[in-house]
Amino acid sequence: MLVTRKPIKNMYLRVKPPDGHLEISAPLRMRTNTIEKFVDSRRTWIDQMQERMVPVNPLNPSDTQERHSLGDNWPPERRAEAKIRMTAQLSELLPRWTATVGRAPTAISLRPMKTRWGSCTPRTGRIRLNLELADMPERFLEYVLVHELTHLRASGHGTEFQRLMSQYLPQWKTLRAELNHYVIL
Ligand SMILES: [Zn+2]
Repeated sequence: MLVTRKPIKNMYLRVKPPDGHLEISAPLRMRTNTIEKFVDSRRTWIDQMQERMVPVNPLNPSDTQERHSLGDNWPPERRAEAKIRMTAQLSELLPRWTATVGRAPTAISLRPMKTRWGSCTPRTGRIRLNLELADMPERFLEYVLVHELTHLRASGHGTEFQRLMSQYLPQWKTLRAELNHYVIL
C-alpha cells in the first residue's frame, strides 16, 4: 500500500494493475488511522477490484499488458451494464452538445480503456469514450464528450481549443483537475 500526501481535500484510493496493489492519495494532515479506517471501509470493493486484475504472465508480459490496455479484464456483464448506462446518458448529452459545438461525430465507440478517458480522430470524425466514465458522476462524461467534440473543430490542445472549451464549458479546467484524481481501473 502506497500512501502519498498531497494538498487535496479528499482521499483517493486506487487499485493498480497489474498486481492490484493499493495507491492512496491523502490530504497532507489526515491521520494515519483515518486512512486505515477508510481502506477498511472499502475492503469489499478493493477485493472485487483485485480479483478482476489478471495475474501477470512473466513469460509473456506484453500479452498481459495488451489485455489490460484493452480492458479485457472487465467481466462481460459489467461491460454490458456500463454500455447501457452510458448510452442512456449520451442520448441526452449528445444532441445538446453537437448542437452547441456545431459538429457531430461519425461514430462513437464505448469501451474500457486503460490510459485515456476518451479520444478523437478528427480525420474520420470518430470518437471513443472510456466505459469507466459510466460509473462516475455524469459531469465527467460530459466534460470528456465536449473535449472530444471540440477536437472536431480544433486539433491539439492549443489556444483555439482552450478558447472553445472555455466558451462551451467555463468550468472545464476544474473538471479536468478533478478527473485527474481518478485512476482508470
Ligand atoms: Zn484532447
